[in-house]
Amino acid sequence: MAAMTLTEKILARHAGKASVRPGDNIWIDVDILMTHDVCGPGTIGVFKQHFGADAKVWDRDKVVIIPDHYIFTADAMANRNVDILRAFAKEQALPHFYDVGTERYKGVCHIALPEEGHTRPGEVLLGTDSHTCTAGAFGEFATGIGNTDAGFVLGTGKLWVKVPPTMRFVFHGELPPYLMAKDLILAVIGDIGCDGATYRAMEFDGDAVYALNIEERMTLCNMVIEAGGKNGVIAPDQLTLDYVNTRNRSGKPYQVERSDADARWIFEKVYDVSKLQPVVAKPHSPDNRAYVSEVKGTKLDRAYLGSCTGGKLTDFRAAARLLYGRSVKIDTFVVPATSEIAKGLKTEKINGKTLEEVFLAAGAKIGEPSCAACLGGPSDTFGRLNAPMSCISTTNRNFPGRMGHKQAEVYLASPLTVAASALTGNITDPRDAMQ
Ligand code: SF4
Repeated sequence: MAAMTLTEKILARHAGKASVRPGDNIWIDVDILMTHDVCGPGTIGVFKQHFGADAKVWDRDKVVIIPDHYIFTADAMANRNVDILRAFAKEQALPHFYDVGTERYKGVCHIALPEEGHTRPGEVLLGTDSHTCTAGAFGEFATGIGNTDAGFVLGTGKLWVKVPPTMRFVFHGELPPYLMAKDLILAVIGDIGCDGATYRAMEFDGDAVYALNIEERMTLCNMVIEAGGKNGVIAPDQLTLDYVNTRNRSGKPYQVERSDADARWIFEKVYDVSKLQPVVAKPHSPDNRAYVSEVKGTKLDRAYLGSCTGGKLTDFRAAARLLYGRSVKIDTFVVPATSEIAKGLKTEKINGKTLEEVFLAAGAKIGEPSCAACLGGPSDTFGRLNAPMSCISTTNRNFPGRMGHKQAEVYLASPLTVAASALTGNITDPRDAMQ
């Protein structure tokens, strides 16, 4: 049998085939379909239109609905979207609906999925959100799809896909304490560009990747879509399996896949992480890369720590290390991705102080778990850029208007760089704040 990559093996198995090659068009069986408050109503509309007003989803246990985007707002249209999800979950008796205003409410879907045990190695996870690729960190095929495809999946549990070729990115060496996964992925996107991986799988490998914790591996996979990637993936190791087995409450079995040693890569690049530097993506594109040293001193109005790529406990631990015992010079917003992470802010400690205490003492504001200002949202959204201002952010996109005002300028950076910059009010190298 021809050698295959991890992505090819997962797709072949889900198509009932012994092997597939890049470019093959195949029907695959879906393990999990996730939707949220922005795309859920449209997906439900497509499903009802094509399968009938009384149709039932193909498998209740495989549908996960996580309202997360426009939650803490008075906006009537945003609230109506959640009402539509609520009515659908009730009508279909869906067991995996994480409703707003209940004990089950989670926050950002891409972090909620693994926390709630919906990510398993070797599976196919589709979601109506481009950052669904985050779950590739668990060794599965995870990708974003549109409402039309998602409506079809709701009715059939299947999707027609083209097998992507795989690009391989190998990270070796010891990661310096001033770098994080965000620096690595911004370096990659800067190297290959916003279309450098269009409809390709991006597999990450190397000792520096396996030295990262699960949350940092999620950050790597989260941003493959910013290079056009179809999916990002990291083969599971014991750390992955321990995380998954702790969370996989249903006990659903899974099959770990790995790339064959002689698998064919369409591209390969090797990095020595010890030689990399802190990176930002300047306005208005994630591939508009600059070293922090090149833009050091750029004046800022705001700092933002949050989102699926930068609102995890690892991100907050890193930021709190720099903010401990100091005061921010600009408005600084902290948004935990999920309710579990929000609890962690109250329990995780540095030198006897909780992360929450460190942030509040430094003068930062802490919001409710959700996407918040990452996608702008209604004007009353926490942290939204409602004026033409300059912001440094741990989020993943900086297109015009992404975080609110169309003339706002957003710099993407690691939590360390964002925290260091919050302390000075201008773009600052984390190494300077560590002295
Ligand atoms: S946090 Fe931002 S990037 Fe992540 S799902 Fe929400 S809006 Fe999208």
